[in-house]
Amino acid sequence: MGYDPQPEGSHYIDGAYVDDSAGEVIEVIYPATGEVIAKVHAATPAVVDRALAAAARAQVIWAAMTGRERGRVLVDAARLMRERNRELSELETLDTGKPLQETLVADATSGADALEYFGGLAGSLTGEHIQLGEDWVYTVREALGVCVGIGAWNYPTQIACWKAAPALACGNAMVFKPSETTPLSALKVAEILIEAGAPAGLFNVVQGMGAVGGQLVGDPRVAKVSLTGSAATGRKVYAAAAGEMKHVTMELGGKSPLVVFEDAELENAVSGAINGNFYSSGQVCSNGTRVFVHRAIKEAFLERLTERLKGAVIGDPMDEATSFGPMVSARQMEIVQGFIAQGEAEGARLVYGGKRLERPGFYLEPTVFADVTDGMVIAREEIFGPVMAVLDFEDEDEVIARANDTVYGLSAGVFTRDISRAHRVIGRLQAGSCFVNSYNDAPVEAPFGGVKASGVGRENSKAAIEHYSQLKSVYVRMGDVEAPF
Ligand code: NDP
Repeated sequence: MGYDPQPEGSHYIDGAYVDDSAGEVIEVIYPATGEVIAKVHAATPAVVDRALAAAARAQVIWAAMTGRERGRVLVDAARLMRERNRELSELETLDTGKPLQETLVADATSGADALEYFGGLAGSLTGEHIQLGEDWVYTVREALGVCVGIGAWNYPTQIACWKAAPALACGNAMVFKPSETTPLSALKVAEILIEAGAPAGLFNVVQGMGAVGGQLVGDPRVAKVSLTGSAATGRKVYAAAAGEMKHVTMELGGKSPLVVFEDAELENAVSGAINGNFYSSGQVCSNGTRVFVHRAIKEAFLERLTERLKGAVIGDPMDEATSFGPMVSARQMEIVQGFIAQGEAEGARLVYGGKRLERPGFYLEPTVFADVTDGMVIAREEIFGPVMAVLDFEDEDEVIARANDTVYGLSAGVFTRDISRAHRVIGRLQAGSCFVNSYNDAPVEAPFGGVKASGVGRENSKAAIEHYSQLKSVYVRMGDVEAPF
């Protein structure tokens, strides 16, 4: 470990670290060893109140600045994140257990992309003018006010930035609650925003479990809630927000299909399936965990896949040669082990992995089941771990119907050399973030989000602006007002 990850305080409020030892202790466990590497306290109601009050104050100052001025702060924060990428990546690795090989390119860098992109857009956010004869209407794009962000544990830095960047670009302030499993990285985002010139209180971080999230969501000062988490939590948070008609963005789970046709370029399809199942030890919401492979190439696909999996370097996440790390927590590992046991009990054919590694930390082997059928639990439920289910199919209509037969709709992918088929099939798959001859790319320029139980709203891209601002429309009459009496 390069440095002590213990933060100066548990929370970051109004431009400074804050603590309240009355809050429940949250131990931060390094997933590669099981060691406790830091401790923070859950926020007490008084701490949450301070954060919301600070955000409300800062929002007024921030919204009065020009978009270009706000954008400059975000772009400066992006630059600082890139300059500190190594340090931030090491912290992310300690927080999550993800290999440094990944965190160096997919976490602070992705956060910086979002800050840079929305920083660039901030100066060009405008309303419009609608001429109606001699009268006219103008619209004003207004901030919502104080937004709450609630994050999952798989991408703590990225999630904080994907929510903060569009929110702040639009003139909002934010209170962010990381997952209790990964409380460290978002604090660094808060520090960096202050260093880049954001007013104190603009982006605050409070730690805690679901109860803290609940307090945030229920507070009348909050205009919007953006959650990244499971569909079960999404339903609770959406319902709580509805009580006061708050805006929501819900980025939830998935059980996404990846369809490999018989004419696919096999090596690329295998790469897509690896990226879509084993990156971050499978802890990625958009993963293509139901891999439908045409019966004609199934055995060739499985053979090549298992050969390639032998090349995974499983080990110390801080070693840049490591390409596959531990699960985030003992609990998550146990949940995934339960699914693996269930897959075996249901009669799926275990073709690779399936076991816990005999070493400290929460390591599971990359695992592949073949001959999976649609009704099996491992084909229906989100596992959120390194478990791929391979299902066979014969024809296009059949695979589309089966791929869509799920409550979820986050992502979908298709591998084929037939371009007409690629677009025809993608057009019929019910999913928000789709891929043709690729899988799991998430550039900030593209909208990201799901349909059905995978969520509402979109993160990233210009679409996110609609979810962090509202339009005021102003009718201006130039002549006399006619009235019926
Ligand atoms: P959870 O749904 O368990 O938790 C998400 C966040 O919500 C956590 O910070 C959690 O706090 C908080 N929370 C829990 N209950 C409440 C409540 N009643 N009110 C307010 N906040 C609450 O998800 P995980 O952290 O386990 O993450 C895994 C899930 O996230 C998977 O389903 C995955 O698919 C999804 N995900 C979706 C992504 C997307 O963009 N679509 C991206 C990444 C993950 P705490 O954990 O501290 O209890």
